[in-house]
Amino acid sequence: MDFSLSPELTALQERVGTFISEQIIPMEADPRRTPHGPDAGLRADLVSKARDAGLLNPQVSREFGGMGLSHLEKAVVLEAAGYSMLGPIAMNCAAPDEGNMHLMEAVATEAQKARWLRPMTEGRTRSCFCMTEPHPGAGSDPALLKTTAVKRGDRFVINGEKWLITGADGAAFAIIMARTIVDGEDLGATMFLCDLPASGFTISRCMDSMDSSFAGGHAVVKFDNLEIPETDVLGEVGKGFRYAQVRLVPARLTHCMRWLGAAQRAHDIATRHAAQREAFGQTLIRHEGVGFMLADNEIDLHLTRLGVRHCAWLLDQGERGSFESSMIKVQASEACFRVADRAVQTLGGMGVTRETEVERIFRDIRAFRIYDGPSEVHRWSIARRLERRIA
Ligand SMILES: Cc1cc2nc3c(=O)[nH]c(=O)nc-3n(C[C@H](O)[C@H](O)[C@H](O)COP(=O)(O)OP(=O)(O)OC[C@H]3O[C@@H](n4cnc5c(N)ncnc54)[C@H](O)[C@@H]3O)c2cc1C
Repeated sequence: MDFSLSPELTALQERVGTFISEQIIPMEADPRRTPHGPDAGLRADLVSKARDAGLLNPQVSREFGGMGLSHLEKAVVLEAAGYSMLGPIAMNCAAPDEGNMHLMEAVATEAQKARWLRPMTEGRTRSCFCMTEPHPGAGSDPALLKTTAVKRGDRFVINGEKWLITGADGAAFAIIMARTIVDGEDLGATMFLCDLPASGFTISRCMDSMDSSFAGGHAVVKFDNLEIPETDVLGEVGKGFRYAQVRLVPARLTHCMRWLGAAQRAHDIATRHAAQREAFGQTLIRHEGVGFMLADNEIDLHLTRLGVRHCAWLLDQGERGSFESSMIKVQASEACFRVADRAVQTLGGMGVTRETEVERIFRDIRAFRIYDGPSEVHRWSIARRLERRIA
């Protein structure tokens, strides 16, 4: 096994690291960081800095103005971007756009790519992905999908409600998952592309949430006889769940990459503090209670990094990696949360204040144990696979 990084990748990693520390971290104090994420002006300023630095779209193909990186290369670069929670927004590789770009590169027609993907990869637009519904609709269990798309002539008429839709407020378009009914027959889930704003598409409200680093926050959206021409179906009718898998496995992994960077940042801040601050005659880091917390952080970060890179390598070999991505999603979301929690503890009272970025990392990282599959759902699917292995 060769764990070394090529000189080119190391140089890129360093370039991103310098960009984040010199240009993005200073913007973390910007008042345009709202409870619902950076506002449109801040996002535009961030993106323009990355554009000037030649660091937009590490995850996108060269054809669409990206760096055309492999999954393994992405693991290195997106971790470096995630060192500031504003980094992925600046570099246009934040959720949900990053997953949507990947999906559209794989599934969209050339006309759809020109219309929706190109402006997004140029950093001019944002998007959202509308899958989750309030009770009794789809959440962990996509089979509960209640939103319907009924074919009428050359159009689909969509009705339903979604929530927790990241970035809906301010998005230029949405990808909507709906149960498709053609001639009275249920053909299963389909994905639809929808320009925003649109008649029949309402943002009812933005939900107040613990996190505050996703542009546009998380919204409740309603579809009331929303009409979508059949040319705006993404991929084929009835293949929505299959495309969701195309999107979910790599998107799950890129979340791990970015959060690994954020957790590393929290750990670095805590370590610097523990090496300087004294209590009872010695620095905090020399107290076993603190030193061991920081040692556990190192172990969590290291094992997570190895797991992320291994899963990325598997995807680069053409494997589906769904089992490994489930395992590493659980590991990364739980380990990074532990790291952030220990960083708060190490900082003492300052840890729960905005004196450092650790407080925001701690709040923001919590949701990662829920989206892209809650830990319990991943463990459940891993256990089912184990059972099949024995049978
Ligand atoms: C910050 C954030 C951003 C999000 N962004 C988007 C977005 O942009 N687009 C979108 O469509 N959705 C988005 N979501 C929604 C997210 O995908 C769902 O929250 C997630 O799929 C879980 O669904 P649910 O909330 O309905 O929970 P439920 O399905 O109601 O599950 C609740 C809990 O039940 C437990 N559970 C469920 N199934 C099992 C099982 N099989 N075994 C054991 N325990 C189980 C788990 O503990 C789970 O946390 C976002 C969520 C958050 C928190």
